[in-house]
Amino acid sequence: MMKIRSIRGMNDLLPDQSPLWQYLEETVQGLLARYGYREIRFPVLEQTELFKRSIGEVTDIVEKEMYTFLDRNGESLTLRPEGTAGCVRACEQGGLLNQAQRLWYRGPMFRYERPQKGRLRQFHQFGAEVFGLEGPDVDAEMLVMTHRLWQELGLASHVHLEINSLGTADDRARYRAALVSWLRERSDRLDEDSRRRLDSNPLRILDSKHPDTQALLADAPRLSQHLGDESVEHFRRLRALLDAAGVDYQVNERLVRGLDYYGKTVFEWVTGSLGAQGTVCAGGRYDGLVEQLGGKPTPAVGFGLGIERLVLLLDAAQAVPDSIARQVDAYLVGVGDVQAAVFTTAERLRTLCPVLRLQTHCGGGSFKSQMKKADRSAAALALIVGEDEAAAGTVTVKDLRGERPQQTLPVDEAAALINNTNP
Ligand code: ATP
Ligand code: MG
Repeated sequence: MMKIRSIRGMNDLLPDQSPLWQYLEETVQGLLARYGYREIRFPVLEQTELFKRSIGEVTDIVEKEMYTFLDRNGESLTLRPEGTAGCVRACEQGGLLNQAQRLWYRGPMFRYERPQKGRLRQFHQFGAEVFGLEGPDVDAEMLVMTHRLWQELGLASHVHLEINSLGTADDRARYRAALVSWLRERSDRLDEDSRRRLDSNPLRILDSKHPDTQALLADAPRLSQHLGDESVEHFRRLRALLDAAGVDYQVNERLVRGLDYYGKTVFEWVTGSLGAQGTVCAGGRYDGLVEQLGGKPTPAVGFGLGIERLVLLLDAAQAVPDSIARQVDAYLVGVGDVQAAVFTTAERLRTLCPVLRLQTHCGGGSFKSQMKKADRSAAALALIVGEDEAAAGTVTVKDLRGERPQQTLPVDEAAALINNTNP
C-alpha cells in the first residue's frame, strides 16, 4: 500500500528540532512581555470575506495564495494567510479597541506558494499589533524592540532594517494618479502582471521582481515626492527617534509591502543569508484597517516575524546556543532489584530540583547498557541507584562530561549539590 505523506510545503517539527524552536519562542515571548505586550489567540479559520476586505482583492495573497473552501453549510472559509486581520476581528468583537492595546500572537499561517527554502505552505509567525496609538513613537518602539531581539539572538550583524513611508490614503491616491499616467505612456515596457495591475493595484508594480519593470521604475515618479505634511512629519520624527536610539536603517522607496492595508510607516528586517527569502520580519502602520472592517477609526501598527526563516538564519549565522543540543541534564539508572527506590529517588529529586531535566531509565538492562543510554542522552550527570544506595537512601552522582569525582550522598544532599552545580 502507498504510504500517506504530509502535504507539500507543510512540515513536521521533529523532536530534534523542537528545542531550537522553543528557545526562539521563549526569547521572543520574553521580550514582548518586557515591552508590555499581552498574548491574544484567535482561530486559524475565518470567513473568507475577512481576508478579502483587509488584505485586498488584488494582492498575491487573495488572488492566488489562500486556502479557501466551502464548509458543509456552503459558507466560504479560509485558513488564515496572516494574523493581522483575525487579530483586528477578535479585538473588535471582544471590545478591546476603546483603549490602547499592545498584543502578540503566534501560530501557523497558510499560503499556497511554491515551496522552497524559507517558503512553505504552512509556516509559522509571531505577530505583534498595537492599537490606539498614532505614533511615530510606538512605530519606533517596535523597531527598537525587534533590534533588541536580533541582539539577544546573536543575529544583529546578519540583518538590516529598511523603512519607507507609504503616506496617507490621500497621498497614495495622488501618487497613484501620477504613477499610472507615467506608466501608461510606457506600458509596452511593463511585464504582463504589472500591466494588469495598472488598473487594479498600481502601487504593487513598485515591488515587481521583473528586471525590465525594475529598470523602467528607476525613472518613475516617486511616492516620497507626493507625501503630504502629516506623513512627512511622521516619517521625519520616526527617523529621529531611530537615530537617537542608535538603530541603523536604510530608506527604501520601493518598499511597498504585499498587503493593501498599510499606510505611513512600513518596514522590513532583511538578511543576506537566506537568498530570495531574505525578509525575516515585516510590518507597518495600518490606520485605516479597523474602520475598513466596520470598527471605529483606530490607529494601528504591527509586524509579522517568520519563525522558519529565523530558524534557518540562526543556523546560517551559527547562532544556535550549545545548550540546545542537550535533551536532559541527568539520567538516572537502577542496578539490581531497586525499581521502587529508583522511583522514590527520582521523584524526590524532581521535587527538590525544580528545573532539573531528569530522565529515569525504563526497560531494565545491564548497568553497562544503561550507562550507554545515559551517555547517548548527552546528560551531564548519571545518577545511580544500586542495592546499597536503595538500602541507605542515597544516590551516586557521576559526572559524565567533567572531572568532578563520583560521590555517594543522601538524596537531599545530592539534590543540593545538583542545584549548586547547575548541570
Ligand atoms: P515574502 O515577500 O517573502 O513573500 P511577505 O511580504 O509575503 O514575504 P508577510 O506577509 O509580510 O510576508 O509575512 C511576514 C513574514 O512572514 C515574512 O517576512 C516572512 O518572514 C514570513 N513568511 C511569509 N510568507 C512565508 C512563507 N510562505 N513561508 C515562510 N515564511 C513566510
Ligand atoms: Mg509573500
